[in-house]
Amino acid sequence: MDSVGGEWSPSSWRSKPIKQVVAYEDQTAASAALAKLSSLPPIVTPTEIIKLKSSLRDAALGKSFLLQGGDCAELFSYCADEPIDTKIKLLLQMSLVLIWGSNKPVIRIGRMAGQYAKPRSSPMEMVDGKEIPSFRGDILNGFAPADRHVDPERLITAYFHSATTLNYIRGQLSSGIADLHKPMDWGLGHVRDQELQSKYSNIVSSISDSLRFMRTIGADTAGQLQTVDLYTSHEGLVMEYEQSLTRRLRHPAGYESPNPSSDGKGWYNTSAHFIWIGDRTRQIDGGHVEYFRGIENPIGIKVGPSMKSDELIQLLDIVNPSKEVGKVTLITRYGKDKVESMLGSHIEAVKGSGHVVVWQCDPMHGNTHSTPTGIKTRSFNSIFSELSSALKIHKQHGSFLGGMHLELTGDAVTECTGGSEGLNEDDLSLNYTTYCDPRLNEKQALELAFLMGSSASK
Ligand code: PEP
Ligand code: MN
Repeated sequence: MDSVGGEWSPSSWRSKPIKQVVAYEDQTAASAALAKLSSLPPIVTPTEIIKLKSSLRDAALGKSFLLQGGDCAELFSYCADEPIDTKIKLLLQMSLVLIWGSNKPVIRIGRMAGQYAKPRSSPMEMVDGKEIPSFRGDILNGFAPADRHVDPERLITAYFHSATTLNYIRGQLSSGIADLHKPMDWGLGHVRDQELQSKYSNIVSSISDSLRFMRTIGADTAGQLQTVDLYTSHEGLVMEYEQSLTRRLRHPAGYESPNPSSDGKGWYNTSAHFIWIGDRTRQIDGGHVEYFRGIENPIGIKVGPSMKSDELIQLLDIVNPSKEVGKVTLITRYGKDKVESMLGSHIEAVKGSGHVVVWQCDPMHGNTHSTPTGIKTRSFNSIFSELSSALKIHKQHGSFLGGMHLELTGDAVTECTGGSEGLNEDDLSLNYTTYCDPRLNEKQALELAFLMGSSASK
């Protein structure tokens, strides 16, 4: 591919400086693991990847809304029926509420089936008075202090856990887990505030009535009510893993790639439908950006408070020189206090550049703080505050909030404070099980969807 940065290949990132680098002590084992990965089949296919990219075009144009959510750090042990089922159901319910509120189709992407790598602020940490390597996600090392060495065998284990998780998701979807003919348990009993309780109940009744009406009139001739699409995503962090799953494959029929080729093929990252560049690895001249500019997949870029407008445009020009609409999702995560001063100028800069992106708000990562006893948490109010500010600012600038990006779980964890259950900092220790950042539990996540749905319907 000829573009600003010269010839691209799945390994051209290796010629660039790279952050969050992984030093494999056993080089022979690392090479063997990567060779094995390169021989395994794609986890996802070009047809699915391009279908998602074309849906995201609609989100960029304000015609649909992107809901993306899942764990901060997905563990291999979450590859089990219960955690996967609860997450699928939660994303489905949230999406129904958002559709109700926004009158737009919702695109669902899980931070699932591969979200195993974590960037860390420091390579080492103190645990019980001893300095040990930080936990970098199950794809590299284990959380237990004795497992903190990087083990290349984990790259292969990550592949199989991704594939197994996605296999189960596909199986459950085709077997009716998301069948809208079935009644759903919305579990609103915890909402103590009577006014809120009746507001949420009214939304649920309205959704249920609409579904009943559609069934009655036989609107489901094509079986659309029987299942939904759910795509997978993760942070593209461990470049050697991503490279091994990058394949030259035939484009789906009808797809016009911005990278014309004589053989009708292009480079696809087949580890997930969508991958994103983290806020710590988005350096213009860095290895991650180099890798991301060459793949056909839709991609995300985290945009934190240190992003300068001209840097943002340079990034977009590098990863999307043909200005394909919806190719890039900008995942803004400034924090509730900085969003007001930053989002507007980023929107104007992008508009001026001619790029048309999906603007997705991640209201989690700019709103993390530690309690006096040192527990990492986020408050529901701060999360909703950043989201509502983003919604408002986009409107003021004639732009659209195209989606939201959340860290959530279908389990009854106590990691974020607030919400209708009234969790406070003293409750955090009840069921605090995250291995990285604090997640919304299923009640908090659904409540956020109710609030967003109601705001969008105004
Ligand atoms: C994350 O999404 O878990 C993450 C590390 O985010 P960011 O890159 O925005 O800090
Ligand atoms: Mn996180």
